[in-house]
Amino acid sequence: MNMQKYLKPQVAAIQPSVIRKFFDLAAKMEGVVSLGIGEPDFSTPLAFCEAGWRSMQQGKTGYSPNPGLLELRQAISAYLQRLLGLTYRPEDQIVVTVGGSEAIDATCRALLCPGDEVLIPEPTFVSYAPCVELCGATAVPVPTDAADGFKLTPQQLEAAITPKTKAVVLNFPSNPTGVVMSQAELDALAEVLLRHDVLAISDEIYAELIYDGLSHASIAKAPGMQDMTILISGCSKSLAMTGWRIGYVCAHPDILSGIYKIHQFSLSCASTTGQYVAIEGLQNGQAETRRMVAEYDRRRQFIVRRFAEIGLPLCKPQGAFYAFPSIAGTGLSSTQFCEQLLQEEKVACVPGNAFGASGEGFIRCSYATSMENIAKACEGIERFVNRHAGRCGE
Ligand code: PMP
Repeated sequence: MNMQKYLKPQVAAIQPSVIRKFFDLAAKMEGVVSLGIGEPDFSTPLAFCEAGWRSMQQGKTGYSPNPGLLELRQAISAYLQRLLGLTYRPEDQIVVTVGGSEAIDATCRALLCPGDEVLIPEPTFVSYAPCVELCGATAVPVPTDAADGFKLTPQQLEAAITPKTKAVVLNFPSNPTGVVMSQAELDALAEVLLRHDVLAISDEIYAELIYDGLSHASIAKAPGMQDMTILISGCSKSLAMTGWRIGYVCAHPDILSGIYKIHQFSLSCASTTGQYVAIEGLQNGQAETRRMVAEYDRRRQFIVRRFAEIGLPLCKPQGAFYAFPSIAGTGLSSTQFCEQLLQEEKVACVPGNAFGASGEGFIRCSYATSMENIAKACEGIERFVNRHAGRCGE
């Protein structure tokens, strides 16, 4: 019996993740080297885990306050003051969520009505559009160009805004491109947003994974933009805490109180143990983050050099842990490239079109894996590209 008719149309319309489909294929094969995973390959540092263990020994195993432990919100506030020089009050401007993922969903649900439009620069992280569409709102893709370094330009933003535009999603450092925007570039976007009364939903979960001596820039820091920005972040990436499910959302109290209502009635609170782990990480984890960032940077430099040797053009990734080279020169589509690479060389990457139509012609390679794996994967990619470049010229 077909029971799909019972699903609400917005749910039925959501397409299964291309990434998932692809990795189901890879999982059936033996000896695959994967550059597919968007997750730190480091375990949560032991000192953070011990703080969680101590809290459990002290019997702190019940619900936390709905918006999160005050001590954690204070630690987040102090962290954001250090990172951005902005003040977010722990009492009414920060809610601790179940990962950045819940923060994205709850923000959409608090803001969006059917008919609202949300601009999503592409290539983009895969969760935003489904979260927008589930609210009955419209996700409007805004393609960005490799020639602009996959950065949204003020002209592209201006051209995409309509009277229905409620918000734009920004995600820098970016998943999947690894690109970062400078403060001046974000300030230029802010000027357009303020002129049109459009909010920014800014996912800054990779803020600390940034290289080449750059410091993190945020749309929230642009003049007049803090109140117009819903800042989303979390501990998954920079503190290697994906499994603990701790994220957070920061906003003007009027907006945050709406997000909080949704959080309160759908999730109650994030994991209490996870919150104790996060407090330790945020307060005392800087050296661990620096150690991980140094290792990601070593791998980044290696993979950038290898892609240059292989002849795959690449926008220089300066943040997160992804490289997004062009494979257009092989004459294959991204899906063909990734499927054949997997079959022929047992190397798994993610086809760029998984991140929106403008990702076609690119592949996402995560370097959140060992140097040994990266080196092996690059050898496979090199053999594969040489074979196919040869065929292209025939
Ligand atoms: N935003 C981006 C850009 C991400 O890449 C991820 C995880 N892949 C998330 C949010 C969600 O992270 P989490 O829910 O684990 O905190």
